[in-house]
Amino acid sequence: MMKSFIHVEPESHFSIQNLPYGVFRPVKGGKPRIGVAIGEYILDLSVIEGAGLLKVTGLIQDGIFAQPTLNAFMALGKDVWSKVRGRIQQLLSEEEATLRDHLALRDAAILKMSDVELLLPAQIGDYTDFYASKEHATNVGTMFRGKENALMSNWTHLPVGYHGRSSSVVISGTDIHRPKGQMKPKDADAPIFGPSKQLDIELEMGWFIGPGNEQGKPIAAAHAEEQIFGLVLVNDWSARDIQAWEYQPLGPFLSKSFATSISPWVVPLEALEPFRVDGPNQDPTPLPYLHKNKASTFDIHLEVHLKGKDMEQSQKIISTNFSYLYWSMAQQISHHTVAGCNLRPGDLLASGTISGSKKEERGCLLELTWRGSEPIKLTNGEQRVWLEDEDEITMTGWCQGDGYRVGFGELTGRILPVID
Ligand code: CA
Repeated sequence: MMKSFIHVEPESHFSIQNLPYGVFRPVKGGKPRIGVAIGEYILDLSVIEGAGLLKVTGLIQDGIFAQPTLNAFMALGKDVWSKVRGRIQQLLSEEEATLRDHLALRDAAILKMSDVELLLPAQIGDYTDFYASKEHATNVGTMFRGKENALMSNWTHLPVGYHGRSSSVVISGTDIHRPKGQMKPKDADAPIFGPSKQLDIELEMGWFIGPGNEQGKPIAAAHAEEQIFGLVLVNDWSARDIQAWEYQPLGPFLSKSFATSISPWVVPLEALEPFRVDGPNQDPTPLPYLHKNKASTFDIHLEVHLKGKDMEQSQKIISTNFSYLYWSMAQQISHHTVAGCNLRPGDLLASGTISGSKKEERGCLLELTWRGSEPIKLTNGEQRVWLEDEDEITMTGWCQGDGYRVGFGELTGRILPVID
């Protein structure tokens, strides 16, 4: 097993097998720049590049890692990503002396994670949110339309999605104020305006697009994974009462656009390869442009923890897996572009809520509490149906290797009271 000269605990998400990219700023000052996470540390790639140690074919732009976003690197494509990743892995390995024995360079390039502030990894031009979990779509459909009409007739033929809002995508650790909006309570004759009383989470994963495609030139499913730079955790905060009133006929609008949180470390698709698995069987067989030609998903264990203001410790409320998703990332990319829409470097696509067949695998409170009829019991005696002010949500996820993990770290967000 490959090891780094930097100590990494077996449970650490940031093994040398992972090396996720992020954008950070040292707390003591300095410009935002790009690094990779390793154990409790960050390797500052702007320093490594500046020292001339990242010369790989195709990496033509000097100072690409001194930039405040990953967009330019994302645009270079899979071959360059792979070479750069291989080079960084080599520099961090315990057998390689170049960095290991160069104490001054180590001093300049390796920072403690506690000494930096993590920033959004990319300038996100467009954010698209899908609805790719059959269990989630079935549960929500059952609650809103009854068991017989749970899945709409299009659902098993195409990955349903909508255009989200990129301006309100925020990094882990950002507090979210409870949104206000229009709602129409069940028995009311007219809508009311006020703070949402049905604030929810959605456990999702997102992926950043690499080079993208020209407008009018769709990305074939067989080549769609080449467009995936890497994955992050996504919490697509949702105000269910605002959503229920506004969503027809064009889908959710303000109920989701107030905030979407993402985790800071972008895990390269290549790091997930050892964890590739088949997705669910698809019946009916999708149309040819959506055909899968190989195992198309990854075994990523996912958890959500909740901590109320009166709780001493957080409590696990969801435990599920990325591989349960019905539609693969490649199918979602192919479908997104098939009519001619162009994707650009740094675009964010997200899966939609990830649910499984068991109760604890349901990826949002709406499903977990079955629209409020089965409240969650918390260890301090409280109950939860929807999020309350001061609730802190932490999402996490990882692939378990033999003696190491490839993980996503944590995605946290806390609900603050409505702004008057
Ligand atoms: Ca969503």
